Amino acid sequence: MNSRKLAQDVPLTPSLYPGTIKHLSEYQLLFCHVHKQPVPYTQLDDHLRREHHLEIYIRRPLVEHCATLDTIASLEDIVPRVDHSPVIPILPL
Ligand SMILES: [Zn+2]
Repeated sequence: MNSRKLAQDVPLTPSLYPGTIKHLSEYQLLFCHVHKQPVPYTQLDDHLRREHHLEIYIRRPLVEHCATLDTIASLEDIVPRVDHSPVIPILPL
């Protein structure tokens, strides 16, 4: 039963978004509630696959949705705060 679905019409699951992955628009960042960590968009698919063991047809709607959001591409774009603010990063600008 190897059903490799490439369905285009799988809806974005609310338990996944924003239930699991949340968009912190204030920080232009995606945040995983399960792992309590920021997930840069470029690592989103990887994160969902490796850490959440989600199939491609589950991941795709979320990844595609997040492509439309205003997010930073990688953690390198996150500039640490000079005043030692919490882990959650701030806007580079
Ligand atoms: Zn996660």
